[in-house]
Amino acid sequence: MNGRLAALVGPKQIEIREYPLPSVEKGALLTRVLRSNLCGSELHIWRWAHPLIKNAVMGHEMVAQVVSLGQGVESDYAGNPIKAGDRVVAPYFLTCLKCGPCSRGDLNMCQNAYRWWSQKPENPPHFTGTFATHYYIQPGQFFYKVPEELPSSIVAGANCGLSQVIFGLEKAGLSSGENLVIQGAGGLGLYATAVAKEKGAIVTVVDGIPSRLELAKEFGADHTIDLKSLSWDALKEKVLHITETKGADVVLEVSGAPAAFPEGIELLRTCGRLVSIGNVSVDKAFEVPLAPGWITRKSITIIGVVRYNPWYLLKALEFLKRTFKKLNYEKLTDKTFSLDQIQEALEQAENRTVTRAVIIP
Ligand SMILES: [Zn+2]
Ligand SMILES: [Zn+2]
Repeated sequence: MNGRLAALVGPKQIEIREYPLPSVEKGALLTRVLRSNLCGSELHIWRWAHPLIKNAVMGHEMVAQVVSLGQGVESDYAGNPIKAGDRVVAPYFLTCLKCGPCSRGDLNMCQNAYRWWSQKPENPPHFTGTFATHYYIQPGQFFYKVPEELPSSIVAGANCGLSQVIFGLEKAGLSSGENLVIQGAGGLGLYATAVAKEKGAIVTVVDGIPSRLELAKEFGADHTIDLKSLSWDALKEKVLHITETKGADVVLEVSGAPAAFPEGIELLRTCGRLVSIGNVSVDKAFEVPLAPGWITRKSITIIGVVRYNPWYLLKALEFLKRTFKKLNYEKLTDKTFSLDQIQEALEQAENRTVTRAVIIP
């Protein structure tokens, strides 16, 4: 039997290809993709701008159904029994448990993270990305069974944005009653709003698009600030007012705008914590002026967060289970495409006529 996948063969060039489904080795799983989300980082890959991923199978956010299990696979990584037909999610990256970062507990920084992620389509087991009919979960790759009550429509984003913001806010030690300022009300910002509200924080969301700020309110934001309607001084004033002149205890940068970083430092109270997630580019074009003295004088902590420790995906599923009845996660995705329409989905995401596309193979 064959499966199909979306291969990136050149800058913004997609080919739908067919390959035989791989036989499942010991410790692995073959799954059928139910839904996959089109995340911002896929656009980066599609433009041929990713340093490592080129000529690759695309897609990384997904929920899938188990087709067959390799020898020895009897339970997920939380000990739940697993069988064909069960729905599962998996971190999109590998954690080898043997490299330097893995052995000191920083599994999110595994040196082999990319080893099986979005590989060349012709290389077996072929199905290493989620814009495909099937996805191969490697031996040693964490995966979790999806709780029965969770609809697939809200689960596909769990293995990326949701797990990462839960990880980031825990690293910052955000606690009840603290003031959090979130820079950016895209998918990450909205997930973070919901997560921070459950922790009992006072949440202020800053963005330049009014409809996104409306959504932030629906996800529980106490305050929203339209950055386009205010001068920088007026915005700072507003944050000082909300935080009773202290400044934010924690700032979470999920906007991807380089200027948000020095601005976030300005919005923090002394000894506050800044979590940097959105800014990922290290090109010259993304440099911003900053006097490092501010970090010293305010004695703040900067916390950079890439990926997450894989068990945070289990926390993400548990979080969705607790909150999905009161929060409309369906609003985080807005248009559905088939696998054959993938080029169209990427183009619409690029020119922002769609916010978060869903691919149903
Ligand atoms: Zn993603
Ligand atoms: Zn490792």
